[in-house]
Amino acid sequence: PAPIAMSSMRLRDAVAVVTGASRGIGRAVAIAMAQEGAAVVCAARSTEAAPSKLPGTIEETARQIQTLGGRALALPCDISQEEQVEAMAQRTLAEFGRIDILVNNAAVNFWAPFAETTTKRWDLVLNVNLRGTVLCTKAFLPQMLEQGSGRILNVSSGATTDAEATVKLGILPYAVSKAAVEKLTEGLALELQPHDIAVNCLRIEMSIATEGARLLNPDIDFSGWEKPEAAAEAILWLATRELAYSGHAVTIGEIRQALAGGA
Ligand code: NAP
Repeated sequence: PAPIAMSSMRLRDAVAVVTGASRGIGRAVAIAMAQEGAAVVCAARSTEAAPSKLPGTIEETARQIQTLGGRALALPCDISQEEQVEAMAQRTLAEFGRIDILVNNAAVNFWAPFAETTTKRWDLVLNVNLRGTVLCTKAFLPQMLEQGSGRILNVSSGATTDAEATVKLGILPYAVSKAAVEKLTEGLALELQPHDIAVNCLRIEMSIATEGARLLNPDIDFSGWEKPEAAAEAILWLATRELAYSGHAVTIGEIRQALAGGA
């Protein structure tokens, strides 16, 4: 990535929190936002003290941002645990005093037919993807209401509109969680519009090759897949709309069209 000083700084003075910033799309979003001048909180479970089997920790992402000349803070957090989310929000506000952008990116997925999906797995997917998004939103909302401004950016999937692919892939709990995230986006946007808090959702309709996906699926040919930066560019577009732009679930393709048209 380009050093921070070379960017156009569209998020100068903003404070952004990105969940799932230890790897994949979340890490690319955290770096892209820092390159636009935001101070970025990198939140996820994988830390140097407690790494995951998959590559990436929040400290690594934060260090990468700092090396580029940006501001970053690594905060460990399991977004399905209310106390951990509360602590993460408190530390963010103690450090930076405000929150301008919350990116609810962290999510999990499992591949199995419904009939073979245990209740434990079902609950985990819904707890991380939906409840985690709700908990993070609830934790930062009082501050956004006090500020009278804020942007909440959720992340959903093409699975919300493609039932056939959902069943073929065996990702029904994931699709249900992401459909709920879109419904949450729509309702929250309406409720929060009078407070100048925008709520939008990036519906990622294309396959994005992350390091985790490459490691978990060594036999798949990822050559035609998009890179995490494709999602980061789309998230940045959403983060830089005027606050009146709210309640939308937009695909990367739609955002590319808007960018090509000069929006
Ligand atoms: P990924 O590579 O698997 O990364 C997921 C991130 O979420 C990791 O940083 C992980 O960090 C974090 N995470 C998982 N459980 C968590 C928990 N309980 N608490 C806090 N953090 C947690 O996934 P990705 O491909 O980058 O996906 C990012 C987003 O895009 C997700 O919402 C996904 O549904 C969506 N999406 C992706 C694609 C795609 O093709 N890649 C397509 C459609 C939608 P830790 O393990 O360190 O906690």
